[in-house]
Amino acid sequence: MQSPIYLDNNATTPVDPRVVQAMIPVLTEHFGNPASATHSYGWYAAELVEIAREQVAKLIGAKPSEIIFTSGATESNNLAIIGCTRMLAQGSRPQHHIISAATEHRSVLDTVRELNKDWFAVDLLGVDSTGMIPPQALSQSLRSETGLITIMLANNEIGVVQDLCSLTTVSQQQGILFHTDATQALGKMPVSVDQLGVDLLSLSAHKFYGPKGVGALYLREGSAARRLVPLFLGGGHEFGLRSGTLNVAGIVGLGKACEIAYQELDQVRNKLELLTGLFMEQLTAQVDGVLVNGPTQERLPGNINISVEGIDSSALIGALSSTVALSAGSACTSRSKTPSYVLAALGHDNKRQRSSIRVGVGRFNTEEEMVSAATIIARATKKLRS
Ligand code: PMP
Repeated sequence: MQSPIYLDNNATTPVDPRVVQAMIPVLTEHFGNPASATHSYGWYAAELVEIAREQVAKLIGAKPSEIIFTSGATESNNLAIIGCTRMLAQGSRPQHHIISAATEHRSVLDTVRELNKDWFAVDLLGVDSTGMIPPQALSQSLRSETGLITIMLANNEIGVVQDLCSLTTVSQQQGILFHTDATQALGKMPVSVDQLGVDLLSLSAHKFYGPKGVGALYLREGSAARRLVPLFLGGGHEFGLRSGTLNVAGIVGLGKACEIAYQELDQVRNKLELLTGLFMEQLTAQVDGVLVNGPTQERLPGNINISVEGIDSSALIGALSSTVALSAGSACTSRSKTPSYVLAALGHDNKRQRSSIRVGVGRFNTEEEMVSAATIIARATKKLRS
């Protein structure tokens, strides 16, 4: 049986064969523990980790000493938010207020909600009908005790890219730490920590052709973020901020994925733009009542989110299960029957929320796949409508 056409690249991406090749020797002969300081196995593993740290830093315009390795973006987001708030709560002038947005990933939203059960006040900024945070919303939410702002760069469901520079200008003026979850942006758009003006940034390898279970957190040198309270205690790995033996093969894979993303960014962006344009052209030529969710311009390359009028998305996705692999929204919420909270935040009604599908195009997709997928979806739509 032929595998379905894979169009869920916002959930995860296939691992690039060059990444696999870089990882294999680490799983076989170079298996040392980078914390072993007494022999060459350990020294070589430590060297590999430092090369990867440089590769990650280069992709985001940071210094290697500003990168710590984690198990992925969920951990990076938890560490950034819990670690910073614990540190801020200890200061001489405790800062108990966190600002985030209603459309963040669950790993941010659930974390700030948990802190809210303790004694942190949390404000979630609303968004306009395209998912953008209105410029004045942040300034209006600031309080004297605001300690941390956490707002994602690119949204995993609707591909909206926030104008972070305008938001970090406000946080810098007030001396407030700014964290961004850039998980979806890496490898698809240029990301520079200095241009964005952020103190902390989360990323994850498996969203840009690296392995699952490995990611990183950027922590700006000289920022109070460097004093965050670690979540894991133990051997004092990663500058004492994240104890635990390093996943060297994963880290080498992440480094290689970053190197490829850096070298091939323009090529990838052009390909993703071409493939998404082709898919939309083919689909809208065959199906009427296709509404775009999120912005129509300035969108994360490769991300399509549409509502198909008169269709229940779970019926459509079910009908496509053996031919096209896609989703209604985030993979983390794909088991839930409730419609997407991201689409709800845009102000769309229940009908539009329930008829939405997310098509995540990746750099391994082909023009033929896009044309076939559009035709298969069009046929399934007609059948469900009749
Ligand atoms: N943030 C965003 C925006 C994501 O899309 C994801 C992955 N679904 C995560 C965080 C969590 O990443 P990980 O799978 O590495 O824990």
